[in-house]
Amino acid sequence: MRQLALILFLFAAVFVSAAAETNYVCVVCGKGPLTGRVWISKWGPVCDDCYRLENHCSLCGLPVRAGDGSVKTGDGRFICKFDKPNAVLDAAEAREIFTDVRRELVDLFGAGFALNYPDVTVNLFDVDYWSEKGRGDGLHKFGFSSTRHSAGGVCTHEVVLLSGRLREELAATAAHEYTHLWINENCARPLDADVAEAICELSAYKLMAARGRPAQQQKILGNPYTHGEIKKLVALEKERGIGYVLNWVKNGAAESFEAAAFAAPLPRRTLAVTNVPPPLPEALKLGGLLLDGQSRQAIISGVSFAVDETRPVRLQDRTVSVRCREIRRAEVVLEVEGLAGAFTLKIGEEKFVP
Ligand SMILES: [Zn+2]
Ligand SMILES: [Zn+2]
Repeated sequence: MRQLALILFLFAAVFVSAAAETNYVCVVCGKGPLTGRVWISKWGPVCDDCYRLENHCSLCGLPVRAGDGSVKTGDGRFICKFDKPNAVLDAAEAREIFTDVRRELVDLFGAGFALNYPDVTVNLFDVDYWSEKGRGDGLHKFGFSSTRHSAGGVCTHEVVLLSGRLREELAATAAHEYTHLWINENCARPLDADVAEAICELSAYKLMAARGRPAQQQKILGNPYTHGEIKKLVALEKERGIGYVLNWVKNGAAESFEAAAFAAPLPRRTLAVTNVPPPLPEALKLGGLLLDGQSRQAIISGVSFAVDETRPVRLQDRTVSVRCREIRRAEVVLEVEGLAGAFTLKIGEEKFVP
C-alpha cells in the first residue's frame, strides 16, 4: 500500500479502482475488458501495463505509447490524443491566437492599447530554445517578448510562445507578452520588474475575465511570480479603471505604484524570467483516488489521505490543514481549517482556498 501511494504521487492525474464491477477498456491501448487492477484517469480507464509506461502526457499526465494517437514535440514532450485537439503545435495557429488576443485587448482597453508599430513576429519554441539561447536556468518558461529600438524610434517586435500548450493558456501568455510590447513602446522610464510583470498579468487576467474563464483568472492571481503585485494591481484597476493604469505606465514618473503614492522607493528586485509557472499547486486538487478492496486513499495536491484523516497540504504560498471526510467513487468531501462547511472535489477539479 505504501508503495502504491508513492507511485500515485508521481502520476497524480490517475487513480485506481477495483475492476470487478465494470467493463473497463483501456483508453491508451484499447485492451479490455480489464480485470484486476485498473487505473482510472480523467479520460477513462487505464490498464496496469499502460500505467507503468515511462512516457506521460505533459499536459494531463496520462501514460502514452507509440501508435496511441499521441504526439511528441520537438523537445521530447508528449501530448496525449485527448489533449492534442486543444494543444497548439503549429506556429500558424499560435499567430492566429496572438492576433485574436491583441484585437480583444484593444477592444477592452481602447485604441490607445494598439501598437504604433503593429508588426509582430510570432513564433513557437520548444523547451530546448532556452538552453540554445544560453538562458537555461532550469525554469520552464511559457513565453518571451522583445522589442528592438532602432533609428527614428522605430520598434521591431518579436514574441515567442512555448509549443504544446492548451489554447486558452497560450492566449493568456499571448496577452502577457503583447502587453510587454506595448510597455516597450509606451514607457520610457524603468519600471519595477514585478510591477511590469504584474501589468502584463493584468492584461491576461482581464482577457480571461472577458472570455468568462474564472479558473484561469484564479491561476493568474495565484501565480507568485510577481511577488503579490498582481493582486494589488487588480484591486487598483477595480478602483480606478484600466485607463488609470495605462496612463500611469505611459505618463507616470515612478517605477512602482507604491513609489508613486508614497514617494518611497521600493527595494529593487531583478527578475529576468518571463511567465514562470508556480512551483507548488495554487489550489487544492483531487489528483486521484486509490480504491483497493476496503482501503481507500485520495491524492489531494500531492498528499495522500485516508478517510477521516487530517493532514497539512502545502500550497504555493501557504500550508492549509485539510480533513478528508469522505472518499466517493470519483470525488471526495473535504473540510479546510478556517473555511466554514465541507465541499466536494471531483477528480481533476481544483478548489481555491483563501
Ligand atoms: Zn492499456
Ligand atoms: Zn493529456
